[in-house]
Amino acid sequence: MTFTQTMRDGGTAVTTASDIVLDVDGLSVEYASAGAPVRACTDVTFQLRRGEILGVVGESGSGKSTLITALTRLQRPPAVTTSGRIVFHPQSGRPGIDLVQLKPRALRSLRWTSLSIVLQSAMDALNPVMRVGEQFVDVLRVHDRSMSRAAAWAEARRLLGLVGISADRARSYPHELSGGMRQRATIALALACRPELVVMDEPTTAVDVVMQRQILAQVLRLRREFDFAVVFVTHDLSLLLELADRIAVMYAGRIVELASAQDLYRTPMHPYTRGLRDSFPPLHAPLERLEGIPGTPPDLRALPSGCPFAPRCPAVMERCHQHLPLLTPRGDRSAACHLHDEELVR
Ligand code: SF4
Repeated sequence: MTFTQTMRDGGTAVTTASDIVLDVDGLSVEYASAGAPVRACTDVTFQLRRGEILGVVGESGSGKSTLITALTRLQRPPAVTTSGRIVFHPQSGRPGIDLVQLKPRALRSLRWTSLSIVLQSAMDALNPVMRVGEQFVDVLRVHDRSMSRAAAWAEARRLLGLVGISADRARSYPHELSGGMRQRATIALALACRPELVVMDEPTTAVDVVMQRQILAQVLRLRREFDFAVVFVTHDLSLLLELADRIAVMYAGRIVELASAQDLYRTPMHPYTRGLRDSFPPLHAPLERLEGIPGTPPDLRALPSGCPFAPRCPAVMERCHQHLPLLTPRGDRSAACHLHDEELVR
């Protein structure tokens, strides 16, 4: 299987099946509740290339956090994956592994070495009563039992250096580091065992703008150095436009548009994407009036028939209230919007 993709530099890459590190197909997640189930994620499908950064963006309640916990198998009841597959393809050429079906023990052996996670709050990821370096030593030695403690400490110091933290900080406790340092330390920790895929859940939310830029620059530099793929979730589209190769826009639990960062910014196909783009200051133009998106996201227990964005959409048509638009490929991008139906039949 092959598909083409427009790269950030405007070139085109041809991708083969062996270039795919993650293949998510028809993933649906629900939360059981006393009444109707909450459909937090519905029929989510995408592929991630090796070394690619895929941004996932949406308002709160769009399903992006549920997607992250499903991808990493960190979800807890009442969340249940009701259908779909999340297939991880190891670079070693071994057969793909469906993470949805994986037993906990097999999942543990994949964590850190193949798939790692950077959480929104560094304090949730770091043990507050252990020295930072010791936490690296633990991770490194669990996955490589032949590594001596001295070698693991040396590696911890090297990894901290990669994210701009001086080696002597390895002996600090998490509370002795600044918020930005803690977050950079969790990124270094996520990379300790050279994973092929790193899932990042709003990793820059708790830091100031200057630190945010530094962290993004470091993620890009480390990605070039270690060649891992990233799924980066955020509510901030402007941040993804600087970081991501492609962006998936989520609304009401579904991907409604998937395109290269450039295409998404220049020519958004879905009115919701356009609304998100116009909600933040332009990247390279004088600031004019910002347009917000009127209304609020729908109740995921009682979605309207047809397009879930219809009550807020400035381009809504009769058919939008009757038929749910499905994510449909259009060239090297996809969108779920009836505005583009005609292009398909032309
Ligand atoms: Fe708007 Fe209709 Fe497109 Fe939905 S399908 S985004 S309501 S134009």
